[in-house]
Amino acid sequence: MTESRPKILVVDDIPSNVHVLSRILKDDYDIYFATDGDKALELVQTRLPDLVLLDIMMPGMDGYEVCTRIKDDPATRDIPVIFISAKSEVEDETHGLEVGAIDFITKPISPPIVKARVRNHLLLKRQADLLRQLSFLDGLTGIANRRRFDEALLREWRRCARSHTPLSLVMLDVDHFKAYNDHYGHQAGDECLRAIAGVLDEQTKRPGDLVARYGGEEFVCLLPETDGEGALLVAERLREAIARQRLPHAVSPVAGHVTISLGAATARPLTETPSDSLYQAADLLLYEAKRAGRNRVCSGTADVPA
Ligand code: GH3
Ligand code: MG
Ligand code: MG
Repeated sequence: MTESRPKILVVDDIPSNVHVLSRILKDDYDIYFATDGDKALELVQTRLPDLVLLDIMMPGMDGYEVCTRIKDDPATRDIPVIFISAKSEVEDETHGLEVGAIDFITKPISPPIVKARVRNHLLLKRQADLLRQLSFLDGLTGIANRRRFDEALLREWRRCARSHTPLSLVMLDVDHFKAYNDHYGHQAGDECLRAIAGVLDEQTKRPGDLVARYGGEEFVCLLPETDGEGALLVAERLREAIARQRLPHAVSPVAGHVTISLGAATARPLTETPSDSLYQAADLLLYEAKRAGRNRVCSGTADVPA
């Protein structure tokens, strides 16, 4: 895999300062630049740089304000900011660090020091990004984990509320999996969960769809902008795809192979209603599918009366 070069945003109201920094860094990094605070914030949002080198004294919005805004926005708060400023009093540096900067370099700059600090902070950023990514993955199956799902549910609930589109959630659980473990052993059980995760992941290809392992032998599938009909279709497709694998389950009372039961719930989210209602509805429908004989889908709505 070829890794793209890190992106650095250089912000300074004096173009020659921008030029000096670009010259030092352009061989190793992709450089973007801005000469005022508004433009800087716009580029932070649209380009999501890996690092920002920020001047403090600028007409209009100063560097402290720019940094504060970067740190206030959850989408950009993890981008490290280094102040590069002619202000060299202890209070200036302290204030810079207080508003969230990771480092402070005083002008006039020394090119080797700027290079070295930039390299160090980018390395730390890369490690932090990697850890964050890992913390959202399920260790056994490699698909998204519950933490990632919980975040996505909240985000999609708000997004669908704003766009007045439906949000669907399919919850599914492996049938008679305790018996599977007892019969084939826990190791084989783990293998089976990995295979199931792979199939579910393969079957949900629309951008925005998210499959996650919710815990144990329970998986969830979040379907933004999908109505009840669509959710039922997806759920049925998942059920069939798993059954088609014919993963042997000699002791299942349902079939000779591994099967799943699914609850598919659809809501028309409102900003003021909690996203829990969707989860609870899917959970109830899953329970219904189990009670009705397993290896089936039960679907319904989760709309809270207005
Ligand atoms: P049902 O059809 O009602 O869902 O029956 P079940 O046996 O699947 O349900 P139950 O909740 O009683 O048992 C779930 C079992 O799933 C318990 C445990 O043996 C197994 N299990 C849960 N997590 C894991 C895991 O990470 N690895 C393995 N191998 N087995 C697991
Ligand atoms: Mg089960
Ligand atoms: Mg279970």
